[in-house]
Amino acid sequence: MSAPAVHYRVIPHNPGAHLWRVEMEIRGGDSTTQALTFPAWIPGSYLMREFAKNLSGLRAEDDQGAVQLERVNRNHWIARGFKGTLRVVYEVYAWDLSVRTSHLDQTHGYFNGTALFMRAEGLENGSHGVELVPPEDSLCADWRVATTLPRKTGNDWGYGRFEASDYDALIDYPVEMGTFDHFSFEAHGIPHDVVLTGQHDTDIERLSKDLKQICETEADFFGRPAPLERYLFMVMIVGKGYGGLEHRDSTSLITCRADLPAKGELKMSDGYRNFLGLCSHEYFHLWNVKRIKPAAFTPFDLTQEAHTTLLWAFEGITSYYDDLLLVRAGSIGVDDYLELLGQNFTRVYRGKGRLKQSLADSSYDAWTKFYRQDENAPNAIVSYYKKGSIVAMALDLEIRKATENAASLDDVMRRLWVEHGQTGIGVPEDGVERIANEVAGVDLSPFFDEAIRGTKDLDYPALFAHFGVKLHFRRADAPGDPGGKKGKVHDIQLQARGAIGARLKDRPGGVELTHVLDDGAAQATGLSSGDVIVAMNGLKTTVATIKRRLKIWSPGTEIDVHFFRRDELLTRTLVLRPPALDTAWLELDEDADEETRARREAWLGAPNA
Ligand code: ZN
Repeated sequence: MSAPAVHYRVIPHNPGAHLWRVEMEIRGGDSTTQALTFPAWIPGSYLMREFAKNLSGLRAEDDQGAVQLERVNRNHWIARGFKGTLRVVYEVYAWDLSVRTSHLDQTHGYFNGTALFMRAEGLENGSHGVELVPPEDSLCADWRVATTLPRKTGNDWGYGRFEASDYDALIDYPVEMGTFDHFSFEAHGIPHDVVLTGQHDTDIERLSKDLKQICETEADFFGRPAPLERYLFMVMIVGKGYGGLEHRDSTSLITCRADLPAKGELKMSDGYRNFLGLCSHEYFHLWNVKRIKPAAFTPFDLTQEAHTTLLWAFEGITSYYDDLLLVRAGSIGVDDYLELLGQNFTRVYRGKGRLKQSLADSSYDAWTKFYRQDENAPNAIVSYYKKGSIVAMALDLEIRKATENAASLDDVMRRLWVEHGQTGIGVPEDGVERIANEVAGVDLSPFFDEAIRGTKDLDYPALFAHFGVKLHFRRADAPGDPGGKKGKVHDIQLQARGAIGARLKDRPGGVELTHVLDDGAAQATGLSSGDVIVAMNGLKTTVATIKRRLKIWSPGTEIDVHFFRRDELLTRTLVLRPPALDTAWLELDEDADEETRARREAWLGAPNA
């Protein structure tokens, strides 16, 4: 194979100033003109992040000297009048500790290709070479390298030369450099590596066993072998943080130290359950969205938004299976699963936005709405993750019902994998529905019209009843009650308490209303998000005092509220309203008959469910 026409040297040039230096070479063509673009977004995260904003010192040269770079727009340049090899040099500022951009200091370096690699237009389908160069800083002398970029030179975990088959592949291999911990396991014979960056005291043996179980369950789900030669989990461990981003054969994760199981800790904490759910989610994506892709992403245009109404299928279905497959893998019990499901319902039912925005619109407008949420978000939008996962579950149950459990959403996913994942043909906007109809053997259009294009709540309790599960809605025990548990439903005092209809946050000197909810007492009184309540009935407030007093203030109670809007002190009388029945919890129907129990067991994939 000939040497790649496009080659990059990546140098952790000045970790103290958070600067990477990139030296790009476009070799040996006859061309005297070359267009260069820089990505504005990263696949998997639907927001224009304008990565070019972090570039500085951009210049170009050939063997004769400087080459003019003509600007076309904010992330598009044209080099003209050069001969032979064109060299483009720039620095990239990297101080975003997230899975989506790049971070560099004297403790570690991390980057996504979308943050570092200029694209040579017209050459994107050829191979791209990368040389990763060690930092000169003596504090970084013992750094190693973790990436699934295909290696050409150097030792495992060392610096060296790498090569990606094309530009899209190049930007799908994040790179971590530093003094990370590392462990490995095999899932159905395929090597899996895990690198842990940041201080921790994790029970590696337990984590390794749990991850192996999840990876094998998901490979079995789609059909072996998994389409991988290797896989890498890159975990950044921090005091506070959460997030993940999927790639074809790796994932970048950020997690709280406290969410990982410490050595000697045996129980399944809520945090660890969430972390395993995140791993399960990103791993599921290696099929669903990294290979089964919407047609709108085939190929990616990273200079502008790519709209699809299908994010509910790629994120919602993945969110449905991330927890369900933990049950099937034996990582969590059915009770855990029902609790997570209840929390999911609660998150969706807490926002009236679900009655205004459909899943199709939520998907399409992710760029301007879901990813750019403001104080009105709960009233205006619905999450294609959270509602998407509930609708995915409803679709699963509808198919099981229509086929008397002979088929399910599992079969839809396997069909999508064979017809779109393995072939690389993008899923058209009606593709999921078409395959679901074929698998179900009935026309599910009315379901999709209501669930995907409509905004009404589906009759979930009736659907669950067919599978021996009861869904209940109750009032929140207190502001911030995540749901999922039965709660204090028999506490008469609680049942009688009033609600403000706003989300609250402690601020110096008072309590800020971060979100004012539609049809709540706060909105009716004219309180707005951003207002800071300093006193209620003449007494100074905190979130804790409000929670305490709401237990004794019943609906209809009138409360004098003193609050600041900007720097002006205002007074209103707040009339408390009854809390909404927006907190969900589920339980197994103990009285379900044999047939119903069998349906439930087949769905959950767990005996004695
Ligand atoms: Zn996802």
